[in-house]
Amino acid sequence: MVPDTQTFQLEAEALCAAAQWCYARGWVPATSGNFSVRDSASGRILISPTGLDKGTMTPVDLLEIDPQGRVEGAGKPSAETALHRVMYGDRPDARAILHVHSIWNTLLSARFSEGLCTHRGLRTAERLVRCGDARSR
Ligand SMILES: [Zn+2]
Repeated sequence: MVPDTQTFQLEAEALCAAAQWCYARGWVPATSGNFSVRDSASGRILISPTGLDKGTMTPVDLLEIDPQGRVEGAGKPSAETALHRVMYGDRPDARAILHVHSIWNTLLSARFSEGLCTHRGLRTAERLVRCGDARSR
C-alpha cells in the first residue's frame, strides 16, 4: 500500500520538530540518537540518517525504509535502524520512535543493562538491544 504522502510529510515535519526540541534540551548531543516515523498503512518508515546533527534535521534529510528493511534512495540510515524495526514489530500501534541519548537514559541503560529497567510499561531501547548491537539483528 502506498502511504498517504501528504499525511506522511506532515508526520515527517512533526518528527523533525521533535528532534530539534530534543536537541535543544541536550538529549541528542553531537550526532547521537535517532528518530523515525512509520506510516501504519504501508509499513514504510522515515528515519534519520547516520551522522546527522538532530538540531538541523529537516524532512529532506530523512531516509525511507520499506517494510522489508531496504533503504529507498541514496544515503546511510542510522546504525540503529534494525532497533526501530524490532520495536515497530513489537508495537503495531507505535507510529514514531524518538531515541535520545540524554545523560540520564544513558546512565539508566548502563545501570540496568540486564533488562531490569521498565518505566510505566515503556521499555528503554537499550533494554531490547544495546546501542550498536542492533546491526546483528
Ligand atoms: Zn542509541
